[in-house]
Amino acid sequence: MQRVSHFVEGERREGAPDADEIDVHNPATGEVSSHAPVADIALVNEVVAAARRAALSWRESSLSQRTNILFSFRQLLVTHADELAAILTAEHGKTTADALGELARGIENVEYACGLSEHLKGDFSSQVAAGVDVHSLREPVGVVAAITPFNFPIMVPLWMAANALASGNAVVLKPSERDPSVSVRIGELLKEAGLPDGVFNVIHGNAGTVNQLLEHPGIDAVSFVGSTPVARHVYETATAHGKRVQALGGAKNHMVVLPDADLDIAADAAINAGFGSAGERCMAISVVVAVGDVAEPLINKILVRLDKLNVGPGTDPGSDFGPVITKEHRDRIVDYVATAPADGITVVRDGTDLASRPGFFVGPCLLDGVRPGTRAYDDEIFGPVLGVARVATYADAVDMINQNPYGNGVAIFTRDGNAARLFSREVTVGMIGVNVPIPVPVASYSFGGWKNSLFGHSHIYGPEGFTFYTRAKVITTRWPQPSESQIDLGFPTTR
Ligand code: NAD
Repeated sequence: MQRVSHFVEGERREGAPDADEIDVHNPATGEVSSHAPVADIALVNEVVAAARRAALSWRESSLSQRTNILFSFRQLLVTHADELAAILTAEHGKTTADALGELARGIENVEYACGLSEHLKGDFSSQVAAGVDVHSLREPVGVVAAITPFNFPIMVPLWMAANALASGNAVVLKPSERDPSVSVRIGELLKEAGLPDGVFNVIHGNAGTVNQLLEHPGIDAVSFVGSTPVARHVYETATAHGKRVQALGGAKNHMVVLPDADLDIAADAAINAGFGSAGERCMAISVVVAVGDVAEPLINKILVRLDKLNVGPGTDPGSDFGPVITKEHRDRIVDYVATAPADGITVVRDGTDLASRPGFFVGPCLLDGVRPGTRAYDDEIFGPVLGVARVATYADAVDMINQNPYGNGVAIFTRDGNAARLFSREVTVGMIGVNVPIPVPVASYSFGGWKNSLFGHSHIYGPEGFTFYTRAKVITTRWPQPSESQIDLGFPTTR
């Protein structure tokens, strides 16, 4: 049986002989493929100390040195794309095409970070008062703990690591214990690209390991992506320990279809965004909000498309989506579908019979009549289950979205530019798609939700990433001449 290694100070490190271990599965077969060690407190202390040492010299590296390393790293990610995608598929279960797509979006973040000499520029104001200049600069925060979810095992670590390293920080990554292996390869490729040992480290573990990082005095900043209850806990614990925190949580993304929308385009979008990656995307559409009399024709068009979907191993080029992450998660999804009729919801398509296959499969499910107060609407199911909510008016749709405690992503399908513009202004959601069902911003914008989808004020990656991973200094300078000598106890003014 294979064992996943930690990655500490530029080397793979086996777990301690007495370390607890977590089973890592191949979701397509259901079999245990390897064991991941749980870092104990001694290792957490060691890796944080190593990262602190490395951060001291890394912050002194020149901007061009950092840029060159990130350029090389970007090229290594491209060269190793097939290998990395295969690791993702083996542990996460997503299709090879989806894994390559995830990697491509992650690479965009590295490319953005390569512009670090522009992103880290300060400001300068000459003569703010007579003979006085002011300039500002941004310095690295120190050591960043990056804690990541199972559903994007390479993209989310790259969201964090690219900008954190570019800003001159060291990173300790604690990836999801469900699919931990690709993180170790990220570490090796960064080393191959020239990153000094200790600047990027990976330790594996569970909630206990995360809590040790959140409370550790050697950690300066925490970037977290995962479910809402854990995001809230991470935010509260780490801020109580004096750290800056960005904690991105779960989602319940609505897709509004107005009566004037092109229903074929809308049905395509609902299928792609609802069932891609088995619905295990934070930007997956989980509720289609059908306005007016759109529901019947839209459901019919969705069904035609849904019946053509192939569910199978991610390695099979014919699969549209693969298994879900664990047996427990599969059973939870099946339970949502089984209990939906008790809430007055119609199960229009029930794909849960696939759960009897070996591996953790659930076929596509379509629920009609989801609404607030029902489990299938209120909870983040995070599986291949698409709900349809019927509302009478545009205002009802906006009201439903704004009452929802999540605010990650939302989409509207319409041909009416003014309706789309109003919608973009009225919804309390961080990322909005107009005729775009997965509105994931590009790397030069920042990514983040509102309400229970984000704790802390900072979005992740893009410009806000550089802000989060740096601290501002403002320097006020005067070079007085001897003739200017004077005593003046008044509060300094700029006039
Ligand atoms: P999760 O919250 O279970 O785990 C995320 C990380 O937190 C893992 O590294 C895990 O080891 C750790 N963790 C788990 N329980 C913990 C606890 N009690 N205390 C401390 N740490 C703990 O999330 P997941 O199931 O891996 O990922 C899916 C979730 O992530 C979904 O809710 C999805 O919406 C969300 N997500 C959000 C975004 C976003 O950008 N908002 C992106 C991707 C995923």
